[in-house]
Amino acid sequence: MSDRVVLSGSLDPLKDKVIAVIGYGNQGQAQAKIMRDSGLNVIVGNVPDRYREMAKRDGFEVFDIPEAARRADVIMMLLPDEVQPQAFQEVVSAVGDRNVVVDFASGYNVAFGLIRPPASYDVVMVAPRMIGAGMLDLHSRGLGFPVLIGVENDASGRAWDYAVALAAGIGALNRPGGVAVKVTFKQEAFIDLLDEHTNWPLLLASFMAFFEVATKEYGVPPEAVLLEMYASGEMAEVASQMASVGAFEQLSLHSTTSQYGQLSRALKYYDEVLRIVEDEAKQIWLGDFAREWSLEQLAGKPKFNALWEHVRSTDMAKAEAELFRLLGRRRAP
Ligand code: NDP
Repeated sequence: MSDRVVLSGSLDPLKDKVIAVIGYGNQGQAQAKIMRDSGLNVIVGNVPDRYREMAKRDGFEVFDIPEAARRADVIMMLLPDEVQPQAFQEVVSAVGDRNVVVDFASGYNVAFGLIRPPASYDVVMVAPRMIGAGMLDLHSRGLGFPVLIGVENDASGRAWDYAVALAAGIGALNRPGGVAVKVTFKQEAFIDLLDEHTNWPLLLASFMAFFEVATKEYGVPPEAVLLEMYASGEMAEVASQMASVGAFEQLSLHSTTSQYGQLSRALKYYDEVLRIVEDEAKQIWLGDFAREWSLEQLAGKPKFNALWEHVRSTDMAKAEAELFRLLGRRRAP
């Protein structure tokens, strides 16, 4: 197997180290709990709020962010990406130039220059391809999950060992389903964003156009359209089959009419979609999107808020709210 792909790893590099999980949210909570179960010495750094109380209730020693960083050998930055640059300044002020391992769960800030760690730090990435709740669930069943790992700076000469050990510590390795793939920070951020800028918005745009045409031009009941597109949950089943048997091979579970329709149209639209993907890829790789998003945040997110306002006011969103009310479904995860 390629040496890019890692299935197992030792926790030894982390024995006797104090690991500070900074931020006790989706990832922080899951990673802290699994690392503690792995026998590692974990403390939590969080601002005083309900997450801090939750960490205390879960039995962790909790400190303000700078104090947790000061006590740690390994610092895991598990705050939302947009608040990390500010929090990282506090970490650097607390740690100074001493050698520590700093771990990120996403390559974004480092890849696009929003965080520039001191040269004395080992800078590693363990980016789970799994939400925190899913990690905890798999951990409780003795199963692993995929992570992308990387090293941006190897001050100690042992940074890769730390990255692999952290991947093992959070339950990604040494278990069925567990795998780490070595990438650069920029490659991780790039494919993460490219997925968010192509696959998902193309799907959302297709849903919106489908709803418009089927209900307005062909008079199909909105409930039937929503159930057909995603509200039945069949899509989740298809996604699960893609992960277990493959994107193309799962087609054999559909009718031959469906197989013919899907394959012929996928190839018909391929060139058009290729141009969209190339264009988005370029904007991401050159840092244009990171700049756009930073400016949007600085301006107080006016476009972000307007986009939400727009989609929530569409007929599709209203029809969905009505259908979900009838079916007794909760709206927000
Ligand atoms: P969350 O939004 O769940 O993090 C919340 C934590 O950050 C809480 O402790 C919260 O406390 C704290 N926080 C929020 N704002 C601030 C602030 N201004 N100052 C200090 N603390 C703050 O983050 P995620 O777990 O979703 O993401 C963490 C990292 O993991 C990111 O790099 C993300 O890209 C990555 N990642 C996330 C995945 C996921 O499943 N969500 C999957 C893979 C990677 P409070 O808000 O109460 O102040």
